[in-house]
Amino acid sequence: MKSINDSLDRVLRFYESVGTPLSYEPKIKYINDISSEMPGAKANIRDEYEVLDNFIDFFSKNLMKKLWKDFYCIQISESAIEEATNIQKQPIGNTGPPKYFEKDTDIIVFRPYFENCKTKEQKDEVIAHKIWHLIEKERDVFKKHPYIVEGTANYAMKKFSGAEFQELSDNVEDLLTIMFEGAANIVRYHAKESTNPYKKILENNVRKNIQEDLMAEVNPVIGKIAKRNLENENTQKIYFYILKQIPEFRALQGNLTAQNLIEAYKNLGANQLAEELQNKDLDKLLDSYKRLGF
Ligand SMILES: [Zn+2]
Repeated sequence: MKSINDSLDRVLRFYESVGTPLSYEPKIKYINDISSEMPGAKANIRDEYEVLDNFIDFFSKNLMKKLWKDFYCIQISESAIEEATNIQKQPIGNTGPPKYFEKDTDIIVFRPYFENCKTKEQKDEVIAHKIWHLIEKERDVFKKHPYIVEGTANYAMKKFSGAEFQELSDNVEDLLTIMFEGAANIVRYHAKESTNPYKKILENNVRKNIQEDLMAEVNPVIGKIAKRNLENENTQKIYFYILKQIPEFRALQGNLTAQNLIEAYKNLGANQLAEELQNKDLDKLLDSYKRLGF
């Protein structure tokens, strides 16, 4: 704990010196285990679980929107997408903070922190990232633009430690890398003209612009992932396997018709989707089910 507290001291003093202090001493708890939801995590704040949930939600909704529009040529409403993605999420359950995250704990440090952070600088970086989240939380900006918070925290962390910003190549298709590293670069771009970048990136109008720029980078990647998943034989096999575990879809094997498919969606609880599909041209959608093996 000594090294964590030393890091904490350095980080708190630093953010104070640049005019964006955290007004309280955060409570840190160490757990000699890994985070079950995020096994690689070195430390987390409570809200980070919600951020992850937000990311997954955002990706799956947009993936579905893209898939239906670009590949099935069917327009469905936002609320039908919302309903369907919520149904998909149910078996996974809600990734909330782990039970051992007590109410008054601000940061949990996990075992990988000690295993992977060998130097003082690496340890400081982890704490600098987490404290920036708490600084945003305290100013009530953390949840207003939920997709940029890993980017702003990574930016503040790198400014603190003097670490290099990683330029991402155009063909990066890993969404989490974009949400962390790519977003940090966008934050840097928006902060670069400012006399105080730390204060600048806490302004809501700046955060709004950062989020818009980030989404402009994320959206085409989502399109590429959708296309790749649809055309890749292995992904298709996995997808087919998963669908066959669901009785409503299993019933379609050998019985695939537009009406039966609509019925399957309805039985799964996606009533709005089922309703919107009535009287639409489902040829492309049916083709994709046939290609999977139905
Ligand atoms: Zn974070």
